[in-house]
Amino acid sequence: MTHPLLRGKDVLDVPVLVLNRGYQPVRITSARHAFSLLYGDRAQALDRDYEPHDFERWAARDPEEGELTVRTVGGALEVPRLLLLRVYDRVPRTPLRLSRRNVFVRDGHQCVYCGKGSDLTIDHVLPRSRGGGSSWENLVSCCRDCNLEKGHRTPEEADMPMRRRPVRPTWTVVIQLTGVKNPLPDWEPFLQATG
Ligand SMILES: [Zn+2]
Repeated sequence: MTHPLLRGKDVLDVPVLVLNRGYQPVRITSARHAFSLLYGDRAQALDRDYEPHDFERWAARDPEEGELTVRTVGGALEVPRLLLLRVYDRVPRTPLRLSRRNVFVRDGHQCVYCGKGSDLTIDHVLPRSRGGGSSWENLVSCCRDCNLEKGHRTPEEADMPMRRRPVRPTWTVVIQLTGVKNPLPDWEPFLQATG
């Protein structure tokens, strides 16, 4: 039977949420990299009770029922879902790279002005010609018709209200992008803290 998390992936490719020393999420990594951080003593694995374990202790414990494991010479090694870094890594201003594709994902593949879901392009809310930069707050997904109609105007000037204010994406969006359908229940307390 295939574990629902796997969905055709290698067990070492499953996502692991990395927290800094202050228990704030800093990134999502693969189990492969998580094991390397754990083995290199740069991080500890959190169990279901959020109890941190270094590699030796992690390897010595019996895997929890239903958890993914990898086979090692020492027996079955549980794949951690949460990793706690030993350092206070800074919390990234945004955990996601600003790109066309990611702006579309954040905006639900819909035009922010009319809601159309096709023929999309990227609109600068404050036009580039007027000093509008490329930022999460100034880029939105927009259909070509609205883009043309808006021209070199702001939404206010064009009388084209936005259905949603563009903001930096939350961790929920980040998780969708990494291909995890639902955030793992173990992750939720940490994700809520950062929005
Ligand atoms: Zn539109």
